[in-house]
Amino acid sequence: MSDRDRTPLPLLLLLLLLIPGACTPSREAASLPSIFLISIDTLRADRLPVYGYGGVATPAIDGLRRDGVLFERAYTSAPLTLPAHASLLTGQPPYTHGVRDNVGYRLEAGERATASLPRWLKGRGYATGAGVSAYVLRGETGLGPLFDHYDDGIAQAGDSRALGQVQRAGGETLEGARRWIRAQQGNPAGGPVFFLLHLFEPHTPYEPPEPFRGRYADPYDGEIATADALVGDFLAFLKAEGLYDGALIVLLADHGEGLGDHGEAEHGIFLYPETIQVPLVVKLPGAARAGTSVAAPAQLLDLFPTIAALVGGPAPELPGADLFRLGDGAGERRLYSESYYARLHLGWSELRSLVDARYQFIQAPTPELYDLVEDPGATRNILTEQRRVYRAMEAALGRHDGALAAPEAVADEEAAKLAALGYLTASAGRAEGPLPDPKDALPALETMRRAFALGAEGRCEAAVPLYQDLLERFPGMLDARVELAACLRALSRPEEALEAYREALTGSPQAADGILLKVAEIQLELGRLDEAEEHVRAALSGVPGKAHGLLARIALERGEGAAAVAAARAAVAAEAVPRPESILTLARAQLATGEATAALDALDTLGQRLSPEEAASLPWFHFLRGDALARLGRDEAAEKAFRREIRAFPQNSPAFANLAVLLAAQQRFGEIEPTLQAMVSAHPVAATYALAAATAERLGDAAGAARWRTAAQARPPGSP
Ligand SMILES: [Zn+2]
Repeated sequence: MSDRDRTPLPLLLLLLLLIPGACTPSREAASLPSIFLISIDTLRADRLPVYGYGGVATPAIDGLRRDGVLFERAYTSAPLTLPAHASLLTGQPPYTHGVRDNVGYRLEAGERATASLPRWLKGRGYATGAGVSAYVLRGETGLGPLFDHYDDGIAQAGDSRALGQVQRAGGETLEGARRWIRAQQGNPAGGPVFFLLHLFEPHTPYEPPEPFRGRYADPYDGEIATADALVGDFLAFLKAEGLYDGALIVLLADHGEGLGDHGEAEHGIFLYPETIQVPLVVKLPGAARAGTSVAAPAQLLDLFPTIAALVGGPAPELPGADLFRLGDGAGERRLYSESYYARLHLGWSELRSLVDARYQFIQAPTPELYDLVEDPGATRNILTEQRRVYRAMEAALGRHDGALAAPEAVADEEAAKLAALGYLTASAGRAEGPLPDPKDALPALETMRRAFALGAEGRCEAAVPLYQDLLERFPGMLDARVELAACLRALSRPEEALEAYREALTGSPQAADGILLKVAEIQLELGRLDEAEEHVRAALSGVPGKAHGLLARIALERGEGAAAVAAARAAVAAEAVPRPESILTLARAQLATGEATAALDALDTLGQRLSPEEAASLPWFHFLRGDALARLGRDEAAEKAFRREIRAFPQNSPAFANLAVLLAAQQRFGEIEPTLQAMVSAHPVAATYALAAATAERLGDAAGAARWRTAAQARPPGSP
């Protein structure tokens, strides 16, 4: 609908909208407490002093605990960031809200979203905001639309292979939180505030900054101390704003960390206490019940009913309980957790668990029962000794929905678009026959880690047979198949890489978007532009930024400059903080259409955002700047830029070639031959000789061109 088609709002309605009462919260809302949730990713409960750990100092969390209530045993619904936060915010277990993994699942809008904690609080007059520090919680996951304000400005790292590693420092998230909360305070119409602050510090990689790096031998402790310092800054800010005393403040973690206790280094596969037990401290308004503890088991999804009870008003039907009314009946509660990570990523069995006041039951091909009172670390399976408890808990677990499905709409949509591309898909995480028990299959992960490390060191020829062996034994290992494909691509075996990606798509349609783009990149390199475009278009809604960027590159390959600029602009617009790659593609497209000034502007803006080291380590950045500067007649600056690109990426032959052209324009003919010579020495492959010959030819040096062609033919047979 164009602006002209739009009927103007009737004047009366406009006036109504402007009446202060229409947007000022009621007197009742103004008296409600502000609510702050601090979610510290991957923070294991038993690694905090408030739970008895002595290895790290956490003065801020200790202080909050003194003013608040400590839940001695709190549990998450899933040891995975996105499903855990979805449970926290909807008050529902994963099988109800539908988000079973970090990848391939979205929290669907509609009834469930409306019944979420932020939307419900908004209905009670709250302004709702969130600041998150990890890519897996970006707004597109469906969490964003639950809030008035959702700050997920995480620049996605270049070609990062591990999604979980994409994060930003907590200090940046915190700064955004301060700004937004302060803006609400400054608004005379402002009611109470609800804010979710998510910090990613204790998550891998464990790289705490100073002074914490030097202070702790174990970098995981250092990360916890870093997170605590950020919590301290945030609490100090709330105090300075006069918000602390009257507010409800909750400190929690979405899950813990294995740290090797049951063979798992991080989290996601197992449901032992080290990964599902989380810290939970609740500071009530006026510090009611300060310093007390609750022993009854609690779960993160209890927070919605707890907050609803505190705020008052009609609350939706929720499976959790008010944390302050766990009372005598609490012993009867059995808290559900699940992880489908092993099933979806490795082709192994999923795990599901129930925890009550005494026992933990883990459903697996070989089931487990632990007495968490006697054995809090879950080290001794007592299932054969406690058959009655086992049977009762197994029956209780059966009442939780164990079927795995992608959210209906997403599943159908994914299957349809894959079918349109000629891929036959199985259902998500297909299970044919008995699946391996993760605790038995775990050693395969060590092989996987070794293969991954080899690939990361550029030793793909050694990694490929490891992946192939793993896939022989565990054909459902999606992650191994995707890594195998990446290695085959790096080894210039594109057809085999495409085949591996095809098998990955067939087995795991829920992970399709990222794989479709990888397939499209290879097709682009092979010059199969129409196929590449089809694949990108299928992934356009799921990963719009990257997909538009690839469409721009395809258009450039076709020589369609205007279309390339439009697609590159769409890519930049789709990303809250545009990825450097998106800006480079835009600049390339602008150069192709003669917009050198615009290209230089885009590159310089990016340069201001990056540190000099980051800019220098970004392939093509200085090359494209040099190209733009040369077109604008700024020869000296252009030469400097080309030389920077050459220094950082000596194998980037076009930088030498462009430098040679620039030297010719300045009539510095004596420097051309040595430049082309340096280019060939840095990367002596056939394509480089051909570029040297073409460059000489272009500069009118027919004899030089002939010399380069002869030199190419004189190279030993079989050289690249
Ligand atoms: Zn997490």
